[in-house]
Amino acid sequence: MTIRIAIAGILLEANRFAPATTYSDFEDYMLHRDDVISGMAHLFQLPSALPKDADVEFVPILLAGAESGGPILHEDYERLVNEIESTFQSRGPVDGVFLFAHGAGLTTECNDLDGDYFKRVRQIVGPDVPIVAELDLHANLSDEMVEQTDLLVGYRTNPHVDVAARARECVAALWKLIHGARVHVAFQRLPLITSQISQLTDPGTPYGDAIDLGSRLRQENEGIANVTLLSGFSFSDTHYNGFAVYVATWTDLALAEATCARLSEFLWQNRERFIPHALSVHEAAQIELTLQSDGTLGPRIYADIADNPGGGGRGNTIHLLKAMIESGADGVLASAYFDPALVQAAEKAGIGARFVANFNTQEESSLSGKMSIEAHVDHIFDGAFKNEIGVQAGENTNLGRSCVLSLENGRIKVVVVSLRNQVFNPQFFSEAGLNPSAANALIVKSRGHFRAGFADLAGPANIYEVDAPGLCTSDIASVDWANLPKPTYPLNAATEWTPDVRLKPSTRPSANVEISR
Ligand SMILES: [Zn+2]
Repeated sequence: MTIRIAIAGILLEANRFAPATTYSDFEDYMLHRDDVISGMAHLFQLPSALPKDADVEFVPILLAGAESGGPILHEDYERLVNEIESTFQSRGPVDGVFLFAHGAGLTTECNDLDGDYFKRVRQIVGPDVPIVAELDLHANLSDEMVEQTDLLVGYRTNPHVDVAARARECVAALWKLIHGARVHVAFQRLPLITSQISQLTDPGTPYGDAIDLGSRLRQENEGIANVTLLSGFSFSDTHYNGFAVYVATWTDLALAEATCARLSEFLWQNRERFIPHALSVHEAAQIELTLQSDGTLGPRIYADIADNPGGGGRGNTIHLLKAMIESGADGVLASAYFDPALVQAAEKAGIGARFVANFNTQEESSLSGKMSIEAHVDHIFDGAFKNEIGVQAGENTNLGRSCVLSLENGRIKVVVVSLRNQVFNPQFFSEAGLNPSAANALIVKSRGHFRAGFADLAGPANIYEVDAPGLCTSDIASVDWANLPKPTYPLNAATEWTPDVRLKPSTRPSANVEISR
């Protein structure tokens, strides 16, 4: 008998402080219908996660994703969920559901987008059909998300280079659940908010150490189905924000509880290691100037972390760019500045023209800043390409109509785009006709995912994290939080915590199923 596995998802990392996300943002970024299977299942090699002789049909529902931004307009969210519901109805019964989710979604009326649509999918398929959801490690874990699913599996890398591997893990687990396996779940939210730049998972980082401990515990005990450690996305600003530990076992609840408690305690003991250290724009410009006068070869990367479009940043703050201009630094390339009106003005002036470039004339966030400066139009192009390397390898990026502006007699060149995107790899320069490897310095509108794509160009020693005013600042004490749990470390340094692991035993009838990995 053919086993039918549905694939659906709405991916939005919502920054409560950013302008609202709309349906058209999903149309611009990712909206798969029938091509869920030809695109995603193929890209993630999902069939390879199943037994060789598996008789399986992947059933496409709807996979919708937008660049990180503000809460989605509620009516636009309803439009997406209604399509998920009606497509489920038209596709007929399924044996399991794989939800490819993000986990930090908000609508303008709902504080838990993911929990809400998980619940509505559960209502369609009923209690007996297993649901497994994949989460970004920037997910905020709500009770509803745990309640409505059988299993949650979070990424274990940041930059997220294991998205496909975790998807296969989800489908492999789903296969076991469909055939009668049971999972017991324990989870714990901690009163711990961490800055986006403290959430890298390299060896030696606190997050990397915690994930490493989780992996070791899994390897030591075959009964553990999954260990997920979610750093969360603080800018969603919800009552369920905070680092979360989620452990699922095939065997017993006590193992899940003990493993969850141990990892939670590890994180809490290491909480001070998550305090971030970023440069000011002036410190960054000074470093660059000093290295240039010493003749130190580049490229160096200055990550404009507070304005990361991948965290809801507008991708257009001018503070770091301005500091580099004022410092007199040379050979600086900057990408990808979101300013459709500026692209239009450049296009009107024409390639080869000089004009006064007014940055952010149409911007509504006051943090973006404004700047008027004489510019030369070097190039105008359509910024559509397939990513060759990095976390988005194999995926398409669309920057829309774009241009390259040359400032300060060519000392500084800026890629300006019409669609908001975080920088993932050197193509965000080379597709504009620029050569990033020959530059002294690169300014990237990105927080950390660029690291995977730029690894051959600049290692960690040549990467500088710079914090300027922006919607994703690492200075979390400066944010006007409204909904975070109180108290929360480090906003309240005296926060105390004792383990209170929550449990969700399996309610499914048991079956004799091989659980080995
Ligand atoms: Zn993420």
